[in-house]
Amino acid sequence: MNGWTLPRRVALAAAVVVPPAVVFAGGAGGAGRAEESAAAKALKDDPGLKAELEKSERFKKMEAKLPQADIGGKRYFFVEGDLRLDRDQLLFYAGEFDAQAERYKLAKGGGAGVPLTTGLIANLNTDGAIVRWNPGATLTYCVLRNTFPTQAEYDAVVANTKAAGAAWSAVCNINFKHDPAQDNGAAAAAPPAGYDFTVRKANLAPGVIASAFFPDWPVAERHLLIGAPYATTPFNKVGVLRHELGHVLCFRHEHISSQAPAVCKTTEGFTFAYALTNYDPRSVMHYFCGDGSAHDQARMNMEITPSDGAGARVVYPFPAPPTPAGAASAAPDPLALPASKFKNVAAAR
Ligand SMILES: [Zn+2]
Repeated sequence: MNGWTLPRRVALAAAVVVPPAVVFAGGAGGAGRAEESAAAKALKDDPGLKAELEKSERFKKMEAKLPQADIGGKRYFFVEGDLRLDRDQLLFYAGEFDAQAERYKLAKGGGAGVPLTTGLIANLNTDGAIVRWNPGATLTYCVLRNTFPTQAEYDAVVANTKAAGAAWSAVCNINFKHDPAQDNGAAAAAPPAGYDFTVRKANLAPGVIASAFFPDWPVAERHLLIGAPYATTPFNKVGVLRHELGHVLCFRHEHISSQAPAVCKTTEGFTFAYALTNYDPRSVMHYFCGDGSAHDQARMNMEITPSDGAGARVVYPFPAPPTPAGAASAAPDPLALPASKFKNVAAAR
C-alpha cells in the first residue's frame, strides 16, 4: 500500500467491505423496515468510515452533479443512466470506482492483472456469486394503474412489459406474469404479497426513461419505475423494457466491459461483474456509446441479440432434452458454469 494516498486506501478498504454489487444488493430499505442497506450497515459499524468516504473528490463530484430525484420521500442518485442509489450506497460506489482506477494504474505499470470483463455481464455479490432467480421461475408483477396519468399510458406499459418479458422467455428459462388483481392498489413501499415487483410511473431524475432493480435488492426496492420521458422516447418502448427486465434478471450494462471503447467507461466501475459472453456492442444492455452509438433502427429497437440470448441461457438454462436411448449425450454448453457460481433467489409464488 506504500505511496497510496489516504482517500485511495479508504476507497480500497471500502471496496473490500462493501463492493458495489452488495451496495446494489443492499438497496435502501425504508423507515421501520427490517431490511437495511449493506452500505448503511457498514457505515454504522465503522463510524469513521463515512467521514473518510465523504472526502473523496469523486464522491463530491458525483453527489453534486449526478442526476437525482426524491422518490417515496427519499433521495436517489442515478449512475450508469438508470441505476438508482441512495447517498450511503453512492459513497461506496464512488469508493469502488476510485479503487478500480487504482487497479488499472497498477496493471498498466506491470502490477497485478485486471480481470477482463467482456460480453453480457452478470452482477456479482461479495462471494463472487451471480445472484439470479431460480431458473424456470415465473416472476409475477402488477402495473399500478393509479400512478399513470391516463388509461392509454397504463395500457401501453401493460402491453410493452408483457412483450419485453416474452422476449426474454423466448431465449432463456424465465417467465414473467402480469397478474392485474392488484393493479388498482396503492403505490406502497413494497410489492403486494405474492408479487415479485411492481411496475409504476415515478418522478425520476430528468432524462431517466426508466429504472429497474437486481434480483438481490431488498423487497422494498423491487420496482420497475417508468419515468416521464418514457412517453415520448424515440427508442422502441418495448426495447427500453427489454433492457430494464435485463437488469431484473441480473444483467449489468454491456458498456462497462473492459473491451468497450473508453468513451463508454466514464462513470463505470465493474469489479463485481462477470462476463458471460464476448463483448457485444449491439447488446440490449449496451448504451449508445462507442460502437453501440449508431442510432440505426436496429439499435433504437433495443433487441436481445444472439449473444445476449447465449449469455442469458448460462444464467437461466433450459432443461436439457432427454437423450434418446443409444445416442451420445449432447456436448455440454462451453459457456456453462457450475451451480456453485450462482446464488438463487426464490420467486414470490
Ligand atoms: Zn440500464
